[in-house]
Amino acid sequence: RSAEEIKALDRRHVLHPNVVLADHARGLPMPIMVEGQGAVLRDIDGKEYIDAIGALWLANIGYGRKELAEVARRQMEKLSFWSLFWGYGNVPAVELAARLAEIAPPGLSHVFFTSGGSEANETSIKIARLYHVRRGEPSRRHIIGLARAYHGVSYGAMTATGLETVRQNYEPYVGAFDHIPSAYCYRCPLGKAYPACGVACAGELERKILDLGPQNVAAFIAEPIHGVGGVITPPPEYFPRIREICDRYGVLFIADEVICGFGRTGTWFGIEHWGVVPDLISAAKGLSSGYLPIGATLVHDRVYEALGQPEGPGAYFNHGFTYSGHPVAAAVALENIRILAEERLGERAVEMGRYLTERLRRAENPYIGDIRGKGLMLGVELVADPATGEMPADPNVGRYAEARCREHGVIVRALAPGNIIALSPPLVVTREQVDRIVEVLDEAVRYVFEHPPAPAR
Ligand code: PMP
Repeated sequence: RSAEEIKALDRRHVLHPNVVLADHARGLPMPIMVEGQGAVLRDIDGKEYIDAIGALWLANIGYGRKELAEVARRQMEKLSFWSLFWGYGNVPAVELAARLAEIAPPGLSHVFFTSGGSEANETSIKIARLYHVRRGEPSRRHIIGLARAYHGVSYGAMTATGLETVRQNYEPYVGAFDHIPSAYCYRCPLGKAYPACGVACAGELERKILDLGPQNVAAFIAEPIHGVGGVITPPPEYFPRIREICDRYGVLFIADEVICGFGRTGTWFGIEHWGVVPDLISAAKGLSSGYLPIGATLVHDRVYEALGQPEGPGAYFNHGFTYSGHPVAAAVALENIRILAEERLGERAVEMGRYLTERLRRAENPYIGDIRGKGLMLGVELVADPATGEMPADPNVGRYAEARCREHGVIVRALAPGNIIALSPPLVVTREQVDRIVEVLDEAVRYVFEHPPAPAR
């Protein structure tokens, strides 16, 4: 079929996530990708792009690695699929679980496999509740999350998500979920300033636990760095304080590492930056660099031991997905982890993240108010005036800049409310590609501020 035919069929038949469906049907530009190599993609019209968002924070080792194709082919020929249900196993799932236990923070040595991040969070939430049931505290049901968090779109993960744009239209939500303000120092939701604030946002967790009654609280869930919610890094004291509060009240801490994991922020897991060990970790995305869908929940020994108690029929673990531990996805994830380690891509994320930040600073763009993040998980916040941090008159400027960057062959992503731009290229991105990303983004941002679109009539 011709490119035009494919695009017409896409408009007619494909329901795309996160678009205005009417815009799609009307045929607004929506590139259809056909090839990728390193950090570069080519669409069906032959146009090339530098992928400055790593697909969706996940193409960590970059596109087109033959090693992964070879591993997948061999595994498919040998054993295409076998479920982990009913106590059966398969070799790649075992190897991958053992490797994850090696790279995870100490004690997180048990692994439950899923197909992606939402399922990993569902699993973490259910295991947290089951843990308390097993320990004879079934009233501990509440899950506390952050206002700017994104945890996925299935019902539990969506209800744990704080972002209203993700949740709206889908009531009723799952019961017993609560939210507290995020540690967003650039625009503190408590109206305070760091460090004079004494990290009051962490204290909000204690307040919420006491409001609900500790005997009713199962877990606190957080991304080490918010992704979809605006690439927001909490101050250094935040997670140590959170860990202390959780311990004081017998509340489990779930780290959602779906974006932060696997080298993106420089370490295997984002939470390592704070020296804190969670009870449960949800992982996906960079676990396979997107080569095949796979996610995982990592379970601390302490939690695992409680799950098996009391022994006997009552201790049945009633949770599982058909594709838990898919052997081809597991083999590919294992090879991805091997490449991340062998090519020291975590170190490269730090080095290139520093370079990207420096280049952005040197551009002296008058509309960039904040550059933040760790490694190659970066975000820039666009403002009317960097001196005051005043919001742009039209918060959609980031969306216009995203569109202009795409025209000029660079893919970035604007995040809600529209003035934050996420930058997370594959960890193999080159200096020349970073230079080009900054050049295109700098021009696009200046352009959209200086040429606002005519108001719709
Ligand atoms: N958690 C976080 C932090 C995420 O960013 C995402 C996806 N953007 C998810 C969970 C959900 O993952 P998935 O889309 O694979 O279900």
